Amino acid sequence: MSESIYLVECATAEQQAAVDELVKQFLLSDDKLASIIKEFRRRMEEGLAADGRVLKMIPSYVSERPTGSETGSYFAIDLGGTNLRVLRVTLDGKGGVKTEQQKFMLTEEAKTRTLFDFIAQSVETFLDDRNLRPTGQQPAISMGFTFSYPVQQTSINSGILVQWTKGLNVPGCVGRDVVRLLQDALLRLGLRVKVAALVNDTVGTLLSAAYTDPSSQMGIIFGTGTNAAYYEDISSVAKWKGTNPASGEMVLNMEWGAFDSDEFAFLPFTPHDIKLDRKSINPRKQAYEKMISGMYLGEIARNIVLWLADQRLLFDGRSSDILNSMWSIDTSYLSSAVTDDSPALSEIQQIIEKTLNVSNSTMADRRIFKIISVLVGERAARLSSVGVVATLTKRPELLDMPINIGIDGSMYEHFPDFERILAEAVSRFIPEPQFRNIRFSLAKDGSGVGAAIIAMLATKKDI
Ligand code: ADP
Ligand code: MG
Repeated sequence: MSESIYLVECATAEQQAAVDELVKQFLLSDDKLASIIKEFRRRMEEGLAADGRVLKMIPSYVSERPTGSETGSYFAIDLGGTNLRVLRVTLDGKGGVKTEQQKFMLTEEAKTRTLFDFIAQSVETFLDDRNLRPTGQQPAISMGFTFSYPVQQTSINSGILVQWTKGLNVPGCVGRDVVRLLQDALLRLGLRVKVAALVNDTVGTLLSAAYTDPSSQMGIIFGTGTNAAYYEDISSVAKWKGTNPASGEMVLNMEWGAFDSDEFAFLPFTPHDIKLDRKSINPRKQAYEKMISGMYLGEIARNIVLWLADQRLLFDGRSSDILNSMWSIDTSYLSSAVTDDSPALSEIQQIIEKTLNVSNSTMADRRIFKIISVLVGERAARLSSVGVVATLTKRPELLDMPINIGIDGSMYEHFPDFERILAEAVSRFIPEPQFRNIRFSLAKDGSGVGAAIIAMLATKKDI
């Protein structure tokens, strides 16, 4: 028998049987989660021991923690997949920050050709608009640079681009130091700006959380993609060949979205996941990310919807050009569907009939659409606990003290109950009383703010 929330009144027996099958595919037992956590931990150890493993565990060269009492204004550049932001971050010395920022939408030309000149020009605009451009007599401005693409970091302000992801493709950059590329573009404009730190967005999120709450140990992104960073004991990083930091710790960028991409053996792949992966621009890569993050969940749901429609179990077998186009179901529609409690499910009706252009949906169609949204979203939130539990239990000594986890990204911020489901799953593996020490908090815009804080820490160290 199905659980009651998965029972569709007014459904045919065939429809209910299909829903039951989906429930079986998408609900994850605690035992299954436990086995994935165990494998994730094994992969973490592998990545700590050597380069080139599925979890890259990249040393960030960030080894300090802000105290929260630092003051002053610092700058950052935050390069995401769609927008570039230039920020000035003012620290109030009491763990609070004020930000002033300007957004520049990446042009097609910037994404494929002129990226670093585009960034330098945006920095120039930001400084000139505010009369902040340093003159010949003034010291250069230090900036942090958040760059959310896989980079093999070589120092706090240098790193080699491993590959482009998320829609960017600028020739001639892979294999080169992205800070050098940006610094040269700034020089061409005669701007007295020094790129003082190269920062992954997860590392920025962690440091911004740490400024506000010194107990922060982990930074996570659940946005377009997913990834995390945490403070690791440097003596546990066997592959580290550099000088040991005085603090004895270093933030590692896990690049956890890649988990299980080499074997496809541990994550709960359904035919709908396999289809998404096959048709993606990066097949057999980012397997964990593809089950968790905003870029992909709508597409998994679309695959399920088509699977049902093709069996005439949804929309009486009808579909539309829009429904047949990849990516036509944005993950934000799943959020809307999950929250629709209206008697006629009218929000869902809108999505099906207006957005997806499939006319005359029945109540059963809408109920099934909602169940699909719940199943895909809940699986994402429960699977997210895998990385969290594996990372927190890696340093069990920390679990006896308060631990804050700073999280940024639209999936975490907006998907209904994402945090509650994630926390509930974590509590199964890290029970009370330790569970009580764990706090999840939204680190909004943390990636940019954190880069400014890291630039501040790096510049202080120089003097
Ligand atoms: P980025 O990852 O580029 O920093 P965001 O954190 O805003 O950006 O994440 C964008 C992703 O979040 C997109 O894939 C989008 O589909 C998804 N998203 C946007 N709004 C919502 C929402 N209300 N519910 C769930 N996912 C959303
Ligand atoms: Mg972001």
